[in-house]
Amino acid sequence: LISKLPHIETTIFTIMSKMATDEGAINLSQGFPGFGSDPILLEMVAKYTQAGYNQYSPMSGIPALRNILAKKTQLTQGYFPNPDQEVTIVSGATEAIFCAVTSVVRSGDEVIVLEPAYDSYEPAITLNGGVPVYVPLNQGDFSVDWERVKTAITSKTRAIMVNSPHNPSGYVWSVEDVNQLAELVENTGIYVISDEVYEHITFDNRQHISIGSHPILRDQTFVCGSFGKTFHVTGWKIGYCIAPEVLSGEFRKVHQYVTFSTVTPIQYALAEYLEEPERYLSIPDFYQKKRDLFAEGLAQTELEFVPSTGSFFQLVSYGHLSQLPDRVLAERMTKELKVACIPISVFYSDRRDDKIIRFCFAKEERELMEALNRLKGLK
Ligand code: PMP
Ligand code: GLN
Repeated sequence: LISKLPHIETTIFTIMSKMATDEGAINLSQGFPGFGSDPILLEMVAKYTQAGYNQYSPMSGIPALRNILAKKTQLTQGYFPNPDQEVTIVSGATEAIFCAVTSVVRSGDEVIVLEPAYDSYEPAITLNGGVPVYVPLNQGDFSVDWERVKTAITSKTRAIMVNSPHNPSGYVWSVEDVNQLAELVENTGIYVISDEVYEHITFDNRQHISIGSHPILRDQTFVCGSFGKTFHVTGWKIGYCIAPEVLSGEFRKVHQYVTFSTVTPIQYALAEYLEEPERYLSIPDFYQKKRDLFAEGLAQTELEFVPSTGSFFQLVSYGHLSQLPDRVLAERMTKELKVACIPISVFYSDRRDDKIIRFCFAKEERELMEALNRLKGLK
């Protein structure tokens, strides 16, 4: 077999979660909540399942969910995408990203990827014959070096992948970041694929600015979101893509042959659940408590870190304690301290090892406390 993805291995999330289970470790590796969702939402799913909403939904998603998502976008981001032409419901943000890349990237096209980057971007680009062009984020705070982005743009640049709040660093884009992007890509024909799965998880009163909210960028952007991340139900694999009509048209051509449509009863449940804005507007406060608790606990360990500003991830540096490669450290930490994490070299194309690991703090307080207690053993 001539592999189409010869360099791709099993994802680090699968590897570390399995190791955590095998070793009986606290799993702060793969990003998923360790607590349940709102029972009201669960009851709604049961209600629609029992009421017989169990057949294929319309290809682009049920109108009620597209409508309420457009309203939510108006409320949180100040613009109203047309629910019929510009909003598509898909099976998770991973599908949204894959379909967005597939709908615009042709063989030989270059796609700019800011790294460290979430691991699903590269295979999506490569499978479409595209060439990822990597631009490193600034060391330290993982902000964007706009001069480097500018230098990376060529006549072959077809798209740029962006992600704020950022996985794994938690960096949240400022208004200036969004304006810089607009300045660079306006009138260039470069598409923006914006991964906004952590749109509701920002701290210290930071606001998430959707790329779709920018009047110029909106016309060339695919905004990809995830209800799984927002409502603590990652296993439901349901998300969305908001893009202008022409782009959504191409996106739907791909989506209809990747999955065709998305789980029906959950769409009805989410449409009803989203009627109350407090259900998503309260999320920053909910996660702020966990971020604070985790940061306070980490301060009692030997690890170095700057508190995360968004997402449910916290990066920490250990280079002053150990020179072990991050993958080895992650393995030992799982086996010996019984706390699993993600080594972040995997998010770099050259597997650059800066001795940084990532913890997911979307866990119950007592689980976080126990993990922190164990991390005190790292010297
Ligand atoms: N993008 C980022 C940055 C993520 O962390 C994740 C993980 N959930 C995804 C996309 C995929 O989201 P989903 O589970 O909805 O496919
Ligand atoms: N997004 C999650 C993370 O970064 C993992 C999702 C997955 O396992 N694909 O940990």
